[in-house]
Parts: sequence; C-alpha cells; structure tokens
Amino acid sequence: MYRMSPQVDNRGVAEYRDVLDAMATRAAAWSGPIVVVGHVDPDGDALGSCLALARALRALGKDVTVPLEPPRYLQFLAEPGELSPAIASLPADCLLFVLDVSDKSRAEGAPLEGASAVFNIDHHGTNDRFGDLAVVEPAKAACALLVKEFIDALPLTWNAAMATPCLTGILTDTGNFRYGNTSREALTVAGELIDYGVDYVELTDRLQWRHPSYFKLLGKVMNTVRFDLGGELITARLAEQMRSDAGADVDDSDDFVGLIRYAEGTKVAALLKQRGDEVKVSVRSSGGASAQRICLELGGGGHLAAAGATVTGSLEQAHAALLAATERELSRA
Ligand code: 5GP
Ligand code: MN
Repeated sequence: MYRMSPQVDNRGVAEYRDVLDAMATRAAAWSGPIVVVGHVDPDGDALGSCLALARALRALGKDVTVPLEPPRYLQFLAEPGELSPAIASLPADCLLFVLDVSDKSRAEGAPLEGASAVFNIDHHGTNDRFGDLAVVEPAKAACALLVKEFIDALPLTWNAAMATPCLTGILTDTGNFRYGNTSREALTVAGELIDYGVDYVELTDRLQWRHPSYFKLLGKVMNTVRFDLGGELITARLAEQMRSDAGADVDDSDDFVGLIRYAEGTKVAALLKQRGDEVKVSVRSSGGASAQRICLELGGGGHLAAAGATVTGSLEQAHAALLAATERELSRA
C-alpha cells in the first residue's frame, strides 16, 4: 500500500478494534478526570468526535472536560457549559483522549504532558501513533467513525445527543457524502446514527448556515481565483484586509477550498489564508495527485486528498512555494 516517508504511514492495522476495546475497557473503569481534545481550528469532525465521546463518557458518570472553542457556525452543536476554555495543565490522575489530531503539535486545548494515560484516536497518515494506546486508521473517512466504534464498545445505549455530533463528523469529512472517501461504512454508520434519533434534515441544513459576512467575504475571495500549471492548479487568496472589508469578525471561511476544488480540469485546489506573517494553506487534490505530499513539503500534513500547512511569509511567497511543490507533485503523479 501507499507509503511515502518515515513520517507518513497511510496503512491501518487489522487489530485496531482490539485496541479500541482496550481503550473502552480502561475508560469505563477510569475513576479520575477525563480530558478530551481535538485539533487546532476545530472542524466538524474534531468537534463532533470530542462531543460524542464526552457525552458517552458522561453518560457513564465520568468527569469529562472538553477544552475546545468551536468556530461560530458549529457552536449550535454544543450545549451551554459543555465546553471549557483551554487548560494550562492537566488535572492529577487524568486520562487524556486526543481526537482527529494529525500530528502532536496540532492538539489544542490542553498540554499532552502530565496525563496518567493518553489515548490517541485518529485517521491521518501523518499521525505518528503517539500515546499509551493509539488507533490511527487512515482508511476511515472520519475520526467520528472510530469514535462510533469506541462508543459501541462501552456499556451504554446510544441516544440522539451522542449520535448527532458523531454524524456531524462523518458529514464534515465526507463533504456530505461527496468526497472520494465516502465509503459504504460511512453511509451505513450514518444510517445507524439516524436510527438513534438524529434529526438529519435539521442537522445538514444547520451545518450550512453561515454568518452574513461570510457571503461578502466569499465574493472577495472568489475574485482572486487564479489558475496555474496549465489549469491543473486553482488557488484563491484570503487577505486579512478582505476580512475587515467584509465585516467578517468571525472565521467561517474554512470551506472555500471545498468550492473551488470542483473547477473542471484541475487536480489541485488551494486556499491561501493570511494570518499575520503566516499563511494557512488548505489543499485538496484529485486525479492521482496527493495533497498530503504537497503539504508535507510545505511543513504540514493531513490526508492524501485533503491536507494543510502553515507557511511563513506573504501570500505571494506562499503561492510561490505551493506552486513549486504542486509542480513537483504533478510531475510525479
Ligand atoms: P484543512 O485544510 O481543512 O485545514 O485541513 C485538511 C486536513 O489536513 C485536515 O485533516 C487537517 O487536520 C490536516 N491539516 C491541516 N493543516 C495541517 C498542518 O499544518 N499539519 C498537519 N499535520 N495536518 C494539517
Ligand atoms: Mn477528521
């Protein structure tokens, strides 16, 4: 199977379910506090995985803290008081779950040091399998699918409160069942979660809601669309100035790359987002090209078809670096 460099392993292991079972057994018996964290800039899979897991563990009577700040458009998923601000140090005798974190440095909300045990559940090939127990299955469309199997292994009954964020993770990472990672499993598990009481129509609708300023910002960003490499690379830029011009004080822009990726004839799509003296690059690929390789070259990581990196410098410099990395990848693919 596809394997690229020591930092990347896109293979899973046959016995991952045994490890999930071992995690479930230990979590169910845990008497101390439990902390659950996801990745920086949480998306629907990070938040959904954390919320589903936390609700399941709370149903077992556990003391669970989720230090996570969701973007505005996802805040409706959390109940008041369910999430907490970032914590500077972990409580004593704590079990730490790290979910959907493609590499250690991308965990946010709590330090990874100081836990009695760290359980790492993820689906990124760039995850180095850190933790006392690690389940990293790159073939899974969403981390939420692994959380679903983890919760199945707990002694409890599913309800809509657990199923809704879990389904959110699957919807987010499959682009509402449109991306190439949409598997029979993703569809079957989604059906199962709906049977647990999710209001599917309400959920998919609500997940598309955006702040009015989002649409003004979208117009500005789409105006920057540019094609390179004979039309195989499409990029768009989000300069900080555009955000203030659009009155966008909240950042709901993360899915802009999900729109431009559908430009006919392109193999690589990227959104370049200015953040101070850095640029966050979000890359999507198709037709045999690897967004993961491109982003590894830029110092980031992620999945084969959806990856990201943060580059120091101006939008122009980030574009040049992306162009060079994409050119190399397209000549290889
Ligand atoms: P996005 O472009 O939506 O931020 O990220 C796409 C995928 O790549 C996500 O699974 C995300 O976790 C991962 N990713 C984004 N940026 C980085 C990065 O800088 N480093 C690593 N290792 N993964 C990233
Ligand atoms: Mn994910």
